[in-house]
Amino acid sequence: TTPHTQTPQALLQQLYGYDSFRGDQEAVINTLVAGGDALVLMPTGAGKSLCYQLPSILRPGVGIVISPLIALMQDQVNAMRQLGVSAAYLNSTLSIAEQNHVEQQLRDQQLDLLYIAPERLIQERTLQLLSQCQLALFAIDEAHCVSQWGHDFRSDYLSLSLLHDYFPQVPRVALTATADVRTRQEIIHRLSLQQAQQFVGGFDRPNIRYAIAVKSNARKQLLAFLKNRQGEAGIVYCLSRRKVEDTAEWLTKQGYNALPYHAGLPAQLRESHQNRFLREEGVIIVATIAFGMGIDKPDVRFVAHLDLPKSIEAYYQETGRAGRDGGDSEAWMVYGLQDVVRLQQMLAQSEGAEQFKRVERHKLDAMLGLCEVTSCRRKVLLNYFNDEASEHCGNCDNCQIPPETWDASVAAQKVLSAIYRTGQR
Ligand code: ADP
Ligand code: MG
Repeated sequence: TTPHTQTPQALLQQLYGYDSFRGDQEAVINTLVAGGDALVLMPTGAGKSLCYQLPSILRPGVGIVISPLIALMQDQVNAMRQLGVSAAYLNSTLSIAEQNHVEQQLRDQQLDLLYIAPERLIQERTLQLLSQCQLALFAIDEAHCVSQWGHDFRSDYLSLSLLHDYFPQVPRVALTATADVRTRQEIIHRLSLQQAQQFVGGFDRPNIRYAIAVKSNARKQLLAFLKNRQGEAGIVYCLSRRKVEDTAEWLTKQGYNALPYHAGLPAQLRESHQNRFLREEGVIIVATIAFGMGIDKPDVRFVAHLDLPKSIEAYYQETGRAGRDGGDSEAWMVYGLQDVVRLQQMLAQSEGAEQFKRVERHKLDAMLGLCEVTSCRRKVLLNYFNDEASEHCGNCDNCQIPPETWDASVAAQKVLSAIYRTGQR
């Protein structure tokens, strides 16, 4: 489509109705509009979408958005259309006729934005089609999916480096909410983004309170946590599918509006539970890590972990789904030795090179470190991402109720980790 002549600022107000940019948004937009590449790291809810939507409209041609979240493409396209932006998506959920229609729109230069699944993009046929179009940019959303270290790894993402070879003149932006320094390097390397300008936003989510306790009776502990949270929407993460189902059933019996979600449930049921969580009030979704990426529900008031995540990145990403509206929210977790042993076993039994497993062990160690720390948890979390932090955030359990060194729970933590460390090495 023809380029808009407005400034990014004017378009922000006119199109979205927002007064001002947040954080690095404007700088990222300027970089892309000028034709440069960018790597954008911003916390969940910070507003990454705007960083590619605006330049797609401002630059001539269509912006291609690569997203692994097929289920959410339609929502995003609908939202864009409501703003009067010409947007479409291409993925396996469309009929042949619908696909043909979108492809025709693309050839006719009628689109500002095209969302596309990675497996679709890398098909020769699609690349051919794109080579005949004027392209505003490529946005690679959820770019951490390129990392083989993470649990969101998608093999199709590895092929995306070909965009650089096929379309060297088209600016590319990779976006993610979670990337420690190692993953950041991996994204740059795998997507050939050596020339990209890096925008590393603050990782702090000040409205999220962090609390971590040693597991004694997890259900009793969860119930105590939920006691004053009747009617609030939240996510309860469990490691196994079985535990997801058991916990959801048990919570329902306790009078909570709880629904299970994991990859083993029929697609229809999964979708219906996700929709109820998004649309109804006060639904608790009990889920494995299969749930959550790209979920844009502003008023999630808590994220509870009944099992230890395998890395700080995973923990940050999962807890980051709370409080996107800026309201007070809580990230609450109980962990135990059995979690650590189980994650160790899963790692030992997994396929993969020794080097890979070594990195994963380090990540698990760092996660355990966050659990065991007796000082400010936010500081540990932010430092892990090389982000600055004050000594005391005042909004985590350790800041609010400083653990005494003789405290029984701390002693338990220490014993626990000693056992774990001996067993491990
Ligand atoms: P992310 O992808 O980083 O998790 P989104 O792009 O989904 O976040 O944006 C989260 C929410 O913040 C959306 O509802 C979006 O409209 C809103 N938002 C983004 N930028 C701004 C801004 N500059 N001012 C106000 N709201 C914004
Ligand atoms: Mg996003």
